[in-house]
Amino acid sequence: MLKDDEKDIIYSNQIISNNNNLSEENIETKQPSLNKRGREGDEAVVGEDSPSMYQHSFESATPTITHRSITRLVQLGLVEYVITQNVDGLHRRSGLSRSKLAVLHGCLFTEICEKCKTEYFRNFDIGGVSFQKTGRYCTELGCSGELQDTILDWEDELPVEDWALSQDQCQKSDLILAIGTSLRIEPGKQSFVSKLSLY
Ligand SMILES: [Zn+2]
Repeated sequence: MLKDDEKDIIYSNQIISNNNNLSEENIETKQPSLNKRGREGDEAVVGEDSPSMYQHSFESATPTITHRSITRLVQLGLVEYVITQNVDGLHRRSGLSRSKLAVLHGCLFTEICEKCKTEYFRNFDIGGVSFQKTGRYCTELGCSGELQDTILDWEDELPVEDWALSQDQCQKSDLILAIGTSLRIEPGKQSFVSKLSLY
C-alpha cells in the first residue's frame, strides 16, 4: 500500500495512545474538559475531572508501537507527513521530526514564544489553555518574548501554519491513512475524507 513513488501521509488521533492507560473512554471524555483546565468559574468540571489525574497520565505516557512505527515509516521515506489532533506529544517523543508533523489542537508539552513563535518542547505538562502565559521567556538571541501554552480551547482557531501545511500536504498526497480516529471531530472529517483510507 505504501510505495516509494507515492506521497502518502498519516492522520492520527487519540486511540493510538491507548496503551498508556489513556483509554479511548478516558481521552474522549477528559480531553474536552481538559480544554477547560484552569478556567475561572468552571469548578464543577475541575472538580469532576481532577487535573492531577490526567496530568499524571499524560506525563507518564510513552510512545506506543504505533507511534514508533509511524516515525519509522517517515524515516524510511514511505510516509511523507503526519497530521495529528492529539495533544499528548507522543509523536514527538517517538522521535518524529516537528518538520514532518502538523499539530492541530496544540500540545500539553509545548510552549511557544508570542514574539518569534519559537517552540519549546518540554518533559513536563506546560499547564494552561488558550495561549496563557507560562511565566517563562524565550531564549532566542535578542528575543526574550513571553512563552504561552499551545492548547486550543473550543472557540480558538486552528494554528495557522500547521493548518495550512496540513491542507497543502493533503492536496498533494496520493493516499491518506487515518489511524486511531473515528473522524467525528472536525476538521479531519471535512478536510481529508475524500482521500481517506480508515484503519
Ligand atoms: Zn522568541
